[in-house]
Amino acid sequence: MNGGIALARLTERVRGRDAHVELVDMRDEAAEGNRQPLSRRLVEVVSRTLEREEQTIIYLNRRGMATFVMCRDCGRSVQCLGCSVALVQHAEIEGLVCHYCGYSRAMPSVCDFCGSRNIRGLGVGTQRLEGMVKKLWPSARVLRLDSDVARGPDSYFNVWETFSEQRADILVGTQLVTRGLDLPAVTCVGVVDADLPLHFPDYRSAESTFSLVAQVAGRAGRDGRSSRVVVQTSNPEHYALQCAAEGDYQGFYEAERPARKAFVFPPFADLAVLTRTDRDDTKAASSAREAAEAIATGLLREGIEGIRVMGPSPAFIHKLRGEYRWQVTLKGDGLERARHLAPRGKDWSFDVDPVT
Ligand SMILES: [Zn+2]
Ligand SMILES: [Zn+2]
Repeated sequence: MNGGIALARLTERVRGRDAHVELVDMRDEAAEGNRQPLSRRLVEVVSRTLEREEQTIIYLNRRGMATFVMCRDCGRSVQCLGCSVALVQHAEIEGLVCHYCGYSRAMPSVCDFCGSRNIRGLGVGTQRLEGMVKKLWPSARVLRLDSDVARGPDSYFNVWETFSEQRADILVGTQLVTRGLDLPAVTCVGVVDADLPLHFPDYRSAESTFSLVAQVAGRAGRDGRSSRVVVQTSNPEHYALQCAAEGDYQGFYEAERPARKAFVFPPFADLAVLTRTDRDDTKAASSAREAAEAIATGLLREGIEGIRVMGPSPAFIHKLRGEYRWQVTLKGDGLERARHLAPRGKDWSFDVDPVT
């Protein structure tokens, strides 16, 4: 490989032993009539963990009460005014919040688009999940950790302290719960929806899924007690999940490599994204198109080879904080060579290998 990346293999953990990771197919749950976000298997494993007076972490990368509020009649969700994303329901404000710009509004009683009263929250966020967990195990001490809880200056540490001193049995939370603390009494980890990153339109989505599961699994079994990780998914055959369940880094690399190579993604090429932002959508699009043409022409004129110019296309979050975003993608080697051809200014950004 031209980048000189070496594989550092960790064949044994410093301490403890690997947790047993199981994949639960949520399509079977639905087919057998379980419409709850927790599978029967996860419920069983959590119950057993509670009986043994050990601790559980339940991971869900979605804050709030529900993913979004949808109209059953026209199928549209309640959107942010400034961003092209759905608003998320939150109990503490009794309303809906945009996770990108913070815009909030009261829960509407009728659909903005068709006026139907048949609107309801769909999906589950950490807040609602916490409520469900408390109902399922009424005698368990349940804590929640997500950025809404952690916003106060001490609450992040308070939650961790309470949990690590074993003054709580179950911790429900977002990726904040996957970060590095050593919690020997955690012998059960549940991943409520491992598919979320797989749906992300990003070439790294398989890698994100793999590392999420590998990282979450690393929370369990840290002092050698037998422990279980239950990963809920609707894609149990996906190599990212299969390899993560086996802790097989090498296997994941080998499965991921051909796709990256075929589509010329890192590590086979660098990626850069030029983003044009404007309050006027048409202006953003046409200006991004002009930039793409100017870059392509410039590369040709200067005899710079090995860089492809693609787009423009709308950004994943097309509208953000009231501004529209259009992107031109560059792929190839030595993308810095093209930087001087890209427009500059406050409406433009040029990121090499950007994180979406
Ligand atoms: Zn409607
Ligand atoms: Zn917003």
